Amino acid sequence: MTTTIAEALTDARQRLDRALSAAGRNTNSATLLAVSKTKPADMVREAWQHGQREFGENYVQEALDKQQLLSDLDDIVWHFIGPLQSNKTREVANHFHWVHSVEREKIARRLSDQRDPALGALQVCLQVNISGESSKSGVSLDELPQLAERVAALPHINLRGLMAIPAPCDDPQHQREPFAALSDALEHLRSILPDAQLDTLSMGMSNDLEAAVFEGATMVRLGTAIFGARN
Ligand SMILES: *Cc1c(COP(=O)(O)O)cnc(C)c1O
Repeated sequence: MTTTIAEALTDARQRLDRALSAAGRNTNSATLLAVSKTKPADMVREAWQHGQREFGENYVQEALDKQQLLSDLDDIVWHFIGPLQSNKTREVANHFHWVHSVEREKIARRLSDQRDPALGALQVCLQVNISGESSKSGVSLDELPQLAERVAALPHINLRGLMAIPAPCDDPQHQREPFAALSDALEHLRSILPDAQLDTLSMGMSNDLEAAVFEGATMVRLGTAIFGARN
């Protein structure tokens, strides 16, 4: 039996609602981001037809190709969530609404400089390395406050919060630890940057959504659970 995208989306929304309710949180306090990397534009369109609006992509050229095929869907919201090299910042700055994976000041500065001011501010999360040596991506917790201060000061960027991809872990109890650390880090940033919007914790994927929601995720990024396994 194959699951349709409509069924998978319904299941994913129910799963998110159940997790929010189990955590004592309001139904609409977290957004479902559908991660469509490696999946064709037709599948994104199908998800859109079933009410999904926020989509995450990891690879710049793949995303631009899909955006072209989906340019009639004018209320779609594109999130860039993959590793970002400086030679790709111009495209990302001007073809996405959000970037979750900023980990260096240089990249943030280029995004701000290259963003067409007519588009308004680019919404940015800083990617944090909360699993220590087991991950190479993300700014360390030590260096986060300084990076956040500098990014918050850039004119065409709105610093919204933090993103993390913890080391894979199948034990739900242990899954919560890195998410709690990310949540604490956001609290700290709010105290040192009281004027920044800082309302976003982008955390939780198909394998650890519940743990992330329990620790305060406001955006969960589901790929496999919506579009099926990637090859
Ligand atoms: C691929 C990816 C996801 C989705 O992962 P699933 O396990 O398929 O839900 C979420 N976030 C990032 C940054 C990703 O690269």
